Amino acid sequence: MNRWASQTRDNLARVRERIEAACLRSGRSPHEVNLLAVTKYLDLDKMRQLLELGVEHVGENRVQSAVPKWQQLGQRGTWHFIGHLQTNKVRDVIGRFQYIHSLDRLSLAHELDKRAAKMDVPVSCFVQVNVSGETSKNGISPAEVMGFVEKIGNMKYIRVVGLMTMAPMVNNPEEARPIFRRLREIRDQVQEMRIDNVPAEHLSMGMSGDFEVAVEEGATFVRLGRILYEPMARGG
Ligand SMILES: *Cc1c(COP(=O)(O)O)cnc(C)c1O
Repeated sequence: MNRWASQTRDNLARVRERIEAACLRSGRSPHEVNLLAVTKYLDLDKMRQLLELGVEHVGENRVQSAVPKWQQLGQRGTWHFIGHLQTNKVRDVIGRFQYIHSLDRLSLAHELDKRAAKMDVPVSCFVQVNVSGETSKNGISPAEVMGFVEKIGNMKYIRVVGLMTMAPMVNNPEEARPIFRRLREIRDQVQEMRIDNVPAEHLSMGMSGDFEVAVEEGATFVRLGRILYEPMARGG
C-alpha cells in the first residue's frame, strides 16, 4: 500500500471513531450513520485506491468530471451526486448515480422523473433545503418544503429518501447545530405527511468541519472530503 493509501486508511479509521463517539454521546447507533466520501478532489487513480480501501459511498459534485470516473469505476460502490444539477445534465446522472442530494426545484424534479421513467430506473433523491437562508446557497426554503414534496408525490419515478442541507461556513461547529436541528424537524414533518414515495428517512448533513455536530443532530449521511485526504488529520 502506498503512502497516500495508508494515510487515507488511517484518516478513515479516525473519522469513523469520531462518528462513533458522536453517536455514543447522542444515544444513536453508529450503524445509522453512513460515511459518504466526497471524491471531487481525487483523480481516477486515487479514487480507485479509495474504493479498494472498502469505502462504499462516494460523492461527486460535477457531472463533467464525474462521468469519466464512473465509466472506469462505476461497477464499484454506491454513487451519490451532491452538486448543483443542471436540467440538461440529468440524462447523464440517471442510471449512474443511485442518489441525488440536490433536488432543489420543481423543473429538476420533472426532468428527473421523466428521464427515470424512460429508463425505468427509479431515482432516490434528497430535497436540498436552504435552512440558513444564505443567498449564496441553493435549496428550497423551509417554508416551501411541504408544498414541494406534495407535488413530488405524483412523480412515481422519484423517491424522496431524505433532506439535505449545507450549513454556513463557521469557525465553531456549534454554530451549525441549529441548522442541523431545524433540518431534522422539517424531516419529521415531511414524514408525518405519509406520502408513498416520500419516506424521507435520511438526513444528508455534516461536512469535514461540522460532521460530529451533524451526527449528534441525526445525520444519516455525512459528506466528508478534505478530512479524509489531508495529511495527519487530528481527532477532536
Ligand atoms: C465538497 C463538498 C463536501 C465536502 O466538503 P469538505 O469540507 O471537503 O468535507 C460536502 N458536500 C458538498 C455538497 C460538497 O460540494
